[in-house]
Amino acid sequence: MSSLFCDFHIHSCLSPCADDEMTPANIAAMAMLNGLSAAALTDHNTCKNCPPFFYHAEKFGIIPIAGMELTTSEDVHIVCLFRSLSGALCFDEYVSSKRPNYKNNPDIFGHQYLMNDNDEIAGEEEHLLLNAADISIDEAFYSVKNYGGICFPAHIDRQSNGIVAVLGDFPSQPAFTAFELNDNTSETEYKTRFPLLSRLVKIVSSDAHRLENIKQADFSINIPLPGGSNQNSALNKANMIIDYISGLI
Ligand SMILES: [Zn+2]
Ligand SMILES: [Zn+2]
Repeated sequence: MSSLFCDFHIHSCLSPCADDEMTPANIAAMAMLNGLSAAALTDHNTCKNCPPFFYHAEKFGIIPIAGMELTTSEDVHIVCLFRSLSGALCFDEYVSSKRPNYKNNPDIFGHQYLMNDNDEIAGEEEHLLLNAADISIDEAFYSVKNYGGICFPAHIDRQSNGIVAVLGDFPSQPAFTAFELNDNTSETEYKTRFPLLSRLVKIVSSDAHRLENIKQADFSINIPLPGGSNQNSALNKANMIIDYISGLI
């Protein structure tokens, strides 16, 4: 078994609320400096900066996971992680068709920069990415699965867009196999309130919107890793991470 330090919830400069310095190259570099083995890019309602993130993660020796933080129709934040970049980009197209087409006002909400492999601004997403998509929590679980991914409720210990705060409860028969805490010290409180959480995989992530908030090496998962260091190997490792979160290993 190998112990991997991870951060599965990071926003790039494509999220309007994230710092412009959160470029894919800077995120991958910071993940390496912090001693992480794997990192997921999870912008609000989009996966479009995942391709340059994969490019830079490979250079810095980080296992990249393509992801998204979906805002469901209930206004609950759900972290979606995909086995492949192509699966994530197909899901991105699906979510694009379910998002309201309100124009972003960068002066109010912030810029939404699309980046290229040179870590340069390649364009800007014109529609505001913060609004809820027309996808319910239950629909999200099964559609993410259809695109080769796994999803789980984000920061259940936070008031803002956390599933417990929004719904007033944690689903009693969740399809989810995992849940995310923003603050690891709230584990006992939430497991006492919702005993079924003890049967789910606990993920602790940074929800970083600034470089200095990306996780240090303090949350790890244990998985049996395949050997090798080529790109196939990174894909295999990403798949094993998704299997772990799915409760399969
Ligand atoms: Zn969130
Ligand atoms: Zn977030």
